[in-house]
Amino acid sequence: MHTDLPSYLNADDLGPWGNYLAQVDRVAPHMGELNKWLETLKRPKRILVVDVPVHLDNGTVAHYEGYRVQHNLSRGPGKGGVRFHPDVTLSEVMALSAWMSVKNAAVNLPFGGAKGGIRLDPKQHSVGELERITRRYTSELSGFIGPNKDIPAPDVNTDARIMAWMMDTYSMNQGGTVTGVVTGKPVELGGSCGRQEATGRGVFISTRETCKRLGLELKGLRVAVQGFGNVGGTAAQLLADAGARIVAVQDHGGAVYSASGLDLALLQAQHRAHGSIADTPNTEPLGRDAFWQVPCDVLIPAALEGQITADNAAQITARVVVEGANGPTTTQADDILQAQGVTIVPDVLANAGGVIVSYFEWVQDFSSFFWTEAEINARLEHIMLGALDAIWRLAQDKRVSLRTATFIIACQRILTARDMRGLYP
Ligand code: GLU
Repeated sequence: MHTDLPSYLNADDLGPWGNYLAQVDRVAPHMGELNKWLETLKRPKRILVVDVPVHLDNGTVAHYEGYRVQHNLSRGPGKGGVRFHPDVTLSEVMALSAWMSVKNAAVNLPFGGAKGGIRLDPKQHSVGELERITRRYTSELSGFIGPNKDIPAPDVNTDARIMAWMMDTYSMNQGGTVTGVVTGKPVELGGSCGRQEATGRGVFISTRETCKRLGLELKGLRVAVQGFGNVGGTAAQLLADAGARIVAVQDHGGAVYSASGLDLALLQAQHRAHGSIADTPNTEPLGRDAFWQVPCDVLIPAALEGQITADNAAQITARVVVEGANGPTTTQADDILQAQGVTIVPDVLANAGGVIVSYFEWVQDFSSFFWTEAEINARLEHIMLGALDAIWRLAQDKRVSLRTATFIIACQRILTARDMRGLYP
């Protein structure tokens, strides 16, 4: 039981924040002197809740609840995406902001952690409504964000177009163009080459390196992917290009299977035409639960949090789980998989590719000097490999999971910064 909860949380329903707190508790025995600062990680630094009123196309006015949480700013400005989803809650955004602090520190980016979101279903809105919602939300955040304060980026259901509106709104309020206020922008507006594929590419690199260490060949590797958006779709394609067989894919509309490997071009076409990969020709349909039982070597959850739970973890046949999504595995499921001998490459490492290239975008915007895609991909690879290597070695030395090893490295960096800066006043 957590006796140290901030008063705005409901102790009976902590949601993803409870999952994050359990992960922090696991690093405590490894923090030594820094333990005196551990409480810092259990309390977000700042929380902003905003009302987002919007004129709908039918002439009525609707109100949405928006959030921006800055979890920790000890190592630099806040950094993390903004999601639009009907399930967005404060607890979720808090957990996602904390995972950004850990992720950014784990790969040694000079950022703290932040996250934002609006609780709405973007599919129910026209482009015009989405633009007005995005602009009003950005305007409400304008005193809170900025290139040296907190830099939003895309996340679930947000993209380069939404980042362009955010950049424009912030810039209009400032009276001059400020490209560095958000990352994940269109390349024509100060975005970076390779940013869109970066998260999926990082998932691919993590999978390839983990398999290499475990003696698994990429050629013929059976991979199941949950989510066929920017992360799952890119990771699946890069793995297929490297010789792996994508045997199952699930998205919000359903799941498909092929023992000999799915034709990803057909899945892409189905997704473009119908918004889901369900019913793609030449595939076998799979039920919601059957997806988790599919025989495979690698499972990549790349959708939302809380997908691998105590109910389905024991059915998973994979040897490796690579977390493309943030928080896809509950603490209980983590323990079950661990006991089954499954290697879990945690979200805070596996999906760091996106924010790594966001960092490159932020740096390029400051200098207004842009790098080639080859340079971006080489630098991304360099950071991912270095981080994975250090985490792998620590996990072996301390006999802990890759998740705990990642948290140890990240929390040491965050809390050392905290310690060196000292308390103000
Ligand atoms: N939303 C992505 C993540 O969860 C990227 C964040 C960013 O680029 O700031 O890591």
